[in-house]
Amino acid sequence: MSLLRKLFDFHGGVKPAYHKEPSTTQPIAQAPLPAELVIPLHQSIGGVPRPLVQAGETVKKGQLIGGPDGFVSSAVHASTSGVVKAVEMRRMPHTSGLSALCVVIEPDGKDEWIERKPVPWRSLPPDEVRDILRDAGVVGLGGAVFPSYLKVNPGKKGHLDTLVINGAECEPFITCDDLQMRERGETIVRGAAIMRDLTRAGQVLIGIEDNKPEAIAAMQAAVRTVGAERIEIVPIPTRYPAGGAKQLIRVLTGIEVPHGKRSTDYGVQCFNTGTIYAIYEALELGQPLVSRIVTVAGNVERPRNFEVRFGTPMRDVVALAGAKPDTDRIIMGGPMMGYAMPGDEVPVVKATNCILVGSPALFPPPPPEMPCIRCGECAKACPADLQPFEMYWFSRAKIFGKAQEYHLFDCIECGCCAFVCPSRIPLVDYYRFAKSEIWAREQEKEAADVARERYEFRLAREEREKAEKAAKLAAKAAETKAKLAQQEAAKAAEGAAPAPVASDDAKKALIAAAMERAKQQAAAPLNTDNLSSDQKAQIADAEARRAQALQAEGKD
Ligand code: SF4
Ligand code: SF4
Repeated sequence: MSLLRKLFDFHGGVKPAYHKEPSTTQPIAQAPLPAELVIPLHQSIGGVPRPLVQAGETVKKGQLIGGPDGFVSSAVHASTSGVVKAVEMRRMPHTSGLSALCVVIEPDGKDEWIERKPVPWRSLPPDEVRDILRDAGVVGLGGAVFPSYLKVNPGKKGHLDTLVINGAECEPFITCDDLQMRERGETIVRGAAIMRDLTRAGQVLIGIEDNKPEAIAAMQAAVRTVGAERIEIVPIPTRYPAGGAKQLIRVLTGIEVPHGKRSTDYGVQCFNTGTIYAIYEALELGQPLVSRIVTVAGNVERPRNFEVRFGTPMRDVVALAGAKPDTDRIIMGGPMMGYAMPGDEVPVVKATNCILVGSPALFPPPPPEMPCIRCGECAKACPADLQPFEMYWFSRAKIFGKAQEYHLFDCIECGCCAFVCPSRIPLVDYYRFAKSEIWAREQEKEAADVARERYEFRLAREEREKAEKAAKLAAKAAETKAKLAQQEAAKAAEGAAPAPVASDDAKKALIAAAMERAKQQAAAPLNTDNLSSDQKAQIADAEARRAQALQAEGKD
């Protein structure tokens, strides 16, 4: 029983105002089809999927439009039926405002699915089940969008001790997991049972913050209805960021996953409730991931959760909730970890758990940044047990190597340090800057390494071709020389033994024979049967002239 379960504390954390209630008063609503869907191909951690469709093609809902590329990559699907208008660069839902390749679909209004059939996952080898989840485009829907198939792994021991399902949803304003647990608890529990069996987990603990009593009750009822064994709903104290994977594992199991280690090294794996729901749909319904629940909250008239197809413009979703006139920004995610969007036309993607609408009154401009006074409050609040002020100093001074020595990449960007900083330093901005610089430098280094390898390869190829050419020329020269030598030898042989020629006597005999043949031909009477009378007369003239000539010469 969850009431008897011993819970553990995690270091740091804060208690911000939660603002969750307004978006939980209405059930989840289906967002309508937009006029155009812009579906980015890159929606998860890892390789960018290859586009599999072209402009002009018709597609059905759930059809594969982006094929996973590389070991860490996840598929992307059409989120409705219609015609592909373009495959082109469009602005991404990222604070950078950069563009990326998207498939633009004009819906046909039928919302017609591809053929879907349940997967016999129990009888399939684990690798095949993982491939199916990769091709169904299932990624972590808690915000990290890590491809889930890579986490369906029983670990080194061949089984997990504990499968942790994350229903904590600790960030202010966001309530999509809460509503999904309230309304679709049975599906989540069935999905948890599938994952329990696939990872051969000894127990499944579904952790939910105790500020969600309706979700806790709904999930407990679902466990009873399904009759799920070894699955327990565990209410946990509400404290931000209890929904961080390492923090939740700590609270539920007492295991502290050290810097640079993975939870699977300790027999634990963690999935978000939304991800578990998507895994159930992929395996039991044969349905790829084409939509998700999105909270629309903040400066809107009707805060609510919507089921939204991927590719729907954020402005369409915000319009459903009714943005107030003083709206000045939209943020993807919550106020602690979210990003301001470059525009409201950017699409909803797999990472969009919340569209937070802002205004100057709701999120006033931060007071001016003051110098760090080394008070250490940030370190006390850091749930990852880091030294935020050290990371800040080195990030600000662009001494990135030192920032990494202070485990910069273990920072989960939860914002607790900035939340408590009396100098109002936007610490997370510095960490994000340092991380992106380090990534950019690594990419540059990788690109330089590739360029150097290519250059060296080209040099080696040119050297090889040069050597091959020289060898060919040498061989040809040797061949020519050998031929000349042969000819010289033949000439020399000719000079030593000339070919036999006919003797003078033989020549004379041949000439005499030829003259005799001519004499016989001349003596033979001419056949004039077929000649005309003129021709016969000409011949008679000629013979008379010859007889006269012979007479004159005395040669009768
Ligand atoms: S809380 Fe702010 S002022 Fe205090 S040590 Fe950390 S960064 Fe410096
Ligand atoms: S943002 Fe990073 S450094 Fe700051 S409290 Fe969170 S984990 Fe610690």
